[in-house]
Amino acid sequence: MATASRRLKRSNAPSPPPRQIDPIIHGDQATLQHWLTHYWQKLHLPAQELSLLAITQDRQEFMNWTGKRLNLMTLGCYCYVPAPSAPLARQRKASGSTEQTAHRHLIFIEPDMQPKSIEVTIAHELIHLADRVNGNPRRHRHHGYDSIAADEAAITGYGLEELRALLHEESARRDQMRRERRPIRYLYECPNCGKKYPRTRKYSQSVSCSSCDKSYNPRFKLRMLQA
Ligand SMILES: [Zn+2]
Ligand SMILES: [Zn+2]
Repeated sequence: MATASRRLKRSNAPSPPPRQIDPIIHGDQATLQHWLTHYWQKLHLPAQELSLLAITQDRQEFMNWTGKRLNLMTLGCYCYVPAPSAPLARQRKASGSTEQTAHRHLIFIEPDMQPKSIEVTIAHELIHLADRVNGNPRRHRHHGYDSIAADEAAITGYGLEELRALLHEESARRDQMRRERRPIRYLYECPNCGKKYPRTRKYSQSVSCSSCDKSYNPRFKLRMLQA
């Protein structure tokens, strides 16, 4: 069975913003710039990478830049866009095209967070950037508990427990927001045991109660109580 969401393209080619001399910063300029400078120095990042950086606090803009979906729960994200292949880059340069010829660093920072979380998230994404620049990108084994978290604590001076608590708090807030955005609109009930099934969407096909029978059984077909 094909659904509408499956027909949608999951990702597109990345299209970062045109390069400028200074890093591109869209959002709370003063705050982002302050922590960017602070942690750029602390991480001993090379100055020439700065003009390859673009930061935004707009989810849609970040998705347009990277060509990838951004989960609603994501508080921050670093995305590396590799340089186009050499022949393509030469061709673009020769034709005077403004399209990218070098690699790019793209960062998203969720704007709706407490100031300390904004600071920590910037530090966190810059650690990913530093890893990439140093040729050693790490994947998360466990957010808040892995070697990236240890680096984050070392560089920010906050304790690991404190950082975990922050992450937990911000995640809980976003989860709450997500629930509010997708309220439960439909309530189904099993005619046999009375179990309730709250739903944000209608079932697209007949569904029976899984408590009464693990496989589909028309005797326990759920009925809608409210719409
Ligand atoms: Zn990370
Ligand atoms: Zn039942």
